[in-house]
Amino acid sequence: MSKVEIFKGWCKKCGICIAFCPRGVLTAGDDGFPKVSNPDACTGCRWCELRCPDFAIVVQKDEHTDNA
Ligand code: SF4
Ligand code: SF4
Repeated sequence: MSKVEIFKGWCKKCGICIAFCPRGVLTAGDDGFPKVSNPDACTGCRWCELRCPDFAIVVQKDEHTDNA
């Protein structure tokens, strides 16, 4: 399973990462920041990281469990 980390100091709550995640992993939290609501569904595709205009979200692939 991959780990998705959001850096709130850089995030401007634009929602792009939420919109682009093909697996519905991310949702907007009560504070407006994206949160990882469904971590088990994450494939580690890194779309969220690549689309974030503020470099505020980083995906760390767990190389021990991923097959890719
Ligand atoms: S790495 Fe891919 S599946 Fe995981 S949260 Fe980001 S966009 Fe969604
Ligand atoms: S795309 Fe980046 S700046 Fe926008 S909500 Fe997601 S983490 Fe925050």
